[in-house]
Amino acid sequence: MRVVLLGPPGAGKGTQAQVIAEKLNVPAISTGDIFRANVSGQTELGQQAREYMDAGDLVPDEITVAMVKSRLAEPDAKAGFLLDGFPRTIAQAEQLRSSLADLGQELDGVLELVVDEDELVRRLSGRRMLVDGEMVQRDDDKPETVRHRLEVYREQTSPLSGFYESEGLLSRIDAIGAVEEVTERALAALGATDGAETGDSPAGDD
Ligand code: AMP
Repeated sequence: MRVVLLGPPGAGKGTQAQVIAEKLNVPAISTGDIFRANVSGQTELGQQAREYMDAGDLVPDEITVAMVKSRLAEPDAKAGFLLDGFPRTIAQAEQLRSSLADLGQELDGVLELVVDEDELVRRLSGRRMLVDGEMVQRDDDKPETVRHRLEVYREQTSPLSGFYESEGLLSRIDAIGAVEEVTERALAALGATDGAETGDSPAGDD
């Protein structure tokens, strides 16, 4: 299965991507994680990406698209993948479509995690990650950067919802609730439930 996970910063994309990808038996590919690994490894790509990331801006499309294209060409992504954090602009979505077409592939579905903005700000300002045994705040989770990232999302990424809806690929799910509940909604929306009892139904369309 080839799936894109869409949603604003703080919607829980990273967490859900890991769990859903494992259930679907495909790699979770997070552009944010790849960029962060390159920043820590002080690679050329990391140096190019860093200033944009620290400011809460998008890394330019040409850098990001080339990186994703080479990642999707790796053997483990042949049978499917779950993209987390890509595409983030209409131009990236168009490039993704044509890169996949070159490989004789297309997307099976796009899942949008829906969370209202107050909840996002609350989650992001409290979020910490484990680095070298210590819980630290991501530089781009500082309050002023968070506000800017949400603005960038609204302006540049949220139009993707309509883009994928018009292609008949989009399912929206309510991403508030326990991690397992949201995962069940996600799998149900993708038509990939493993028969587990959930008592929950997708909150969006589809
Ligand atoms: P994330 O972990 O998905 O929140 O991404 C962290 C940061 O990495 C973003 O704020 C951007 O600076 C950069 N980034 C990740 N994915 C993309 C993308 N698809 N296009 C441009 N920049 C990206």
